[in-house]
Amino acid sequence: MKEYFFTCPYCWDKISMLIDVSVDSQIYIEDCETCCNPIEVSYSTLNNEISYFEANSIEQ
Ligand SMILES: [Zn+2]
Repeated sequence: MKEYFFTCPYCWDKISMLIDVSVDSQIYIEDCETCCNPIEVSYSTLNNEISYFEANSIEQ
């Protein structure tokens, strides 16, 4: 697991999440620890490093 820092798409606070780098790629929903809005997190890994990361707001 790696801790990854990024900006919340709702409150623009800098938050971090633990990323499982043993998985090739994953998309899931996790709530922001500051504003509690659901963030769609998608990422890919390469050689146990995060090669791509995106955090998007959920469309209504
Ligand atoms: Zn937030």
